[in-house]
Amino acid sequence: MTSPSPSTDAVAVPAVAVDAVTKTYGDRKAVDGVSLTIRRGEFFGLLGPNGAGKSTLVEIMEGLRKAESGSVAVFGESPWPRNTALLPRMGVQTQSSAFFVRQTVHEHLRTVAALFGAPSKAVDETLEAVGLGQMRDIRVDNLSGGQRQRLAIASALVHGPELIFLDEPTAALDPEGRRDLWEVLRDLKAEGRTIVYTTHHLDEAEALCDRVGILVAGRLVVTDEPQHLINTFGASSRLLVPLGRIDEDQARELPGVDGVMVQGGHLVLETRATGQVLSALDARGGLDGVQTRTPSLEDVYLELTARQSPLASQHASNNQEQQA
Ligand code: ADP
Ligand code: MG
Repeated sequence: MTSPSPSTDAVAVPAVAVDAVTKTYGDRKAVDGVSLTIRRGEFFGLLGPNGAGKSTLVEIMEGLRKAESGSVAVFGESPWPRNTALLPRMGVQTQSSAFFVRQTVHEHLRTVAALFGAPSKAVDETLEAVGLGQMRDIRVDNLSGGQRQRLAIASALVHGPELIFLDEPTAALDPEGRRDLWEVLRDLKAEGRTIVYTTHHLDEAEALCDRVGILVAGRLVVTDEPQHLINTFGASSRLLVPLGRIDEDQARELPGVDGVMVQGGHLVLETRATGQVLSALDARGGLDGVQTRTPSLEDVYLELTARQSPLASQHASNNQEQQA
């Protein structure tokens, strides 16, 4: 392995620095002026609807695609054109990972490990870590979608890279497999590795990520810690009150209530002043059976993506037309 030069390897140098990066396909801006710095040891989640440009942006960071304008530095060096000094330090799982399909799981990972000069014991350890220990002698082309996904992840991890890129690694996994992978990723993070990943699972991003960035139509609309995002955007909490406790009009009049609807046997009160509404409810028939739903990253995400989407204004005008 090539040792990085001390000047570029100072801890102050971020894992990834993206500055004003743009990528256009035809007349479509897949990535539109994105700037982003990912610290070493950080677990960073890139979120956004399909087609937002997540994969394009990640592949530019990985050096698999060339930015049209702007600059990218990984550990202070340009990943493009293919930078052999960076390859051992990065682990990459793409959305269309390639496999040696005629090999067994173990042979496949051994081949990948050999490419990076990783020790053979890393092969068994990594297969265990991703839950493929029992599948080692199965041919790759006989694996299920979820098992292939695990193998793709193993292929990104086997050489013990400092910086790990995973593009929707939990997409094909069942809930149990997803939880197992969370543990693997948490362990990697605890070892001080940097993880950059994309996901559509907002609960997962909230549970795992130090920071998330939300990409909409190629633009990074926000970058923040999940909890801070939730607090800043002040998404509403919801109080679920058993039907019959108070009627809808009374509920609407309660101080602190922003909205009221009936849903699944409950009166749902939206509020940004949970304490106030709870004490008002308590005074009018008690809190028995009242449930509180705190806002989640998903609430913020849905609000932001709806607001920022190029379709949002179109939807709004369509709605107006329908109402007219
Ligand atoms: P995401 O990963 O967020 O779903 P992508 O980065 O895959 O988004 O795609 C962003 C946009 O760029 C989409 O409109 C997609 O159709 C387009 N795109 C991606 N790759 C190519 C390509 N190789 N050629 C042409 N258009 C592409
Ligand atoms: Mg993608």
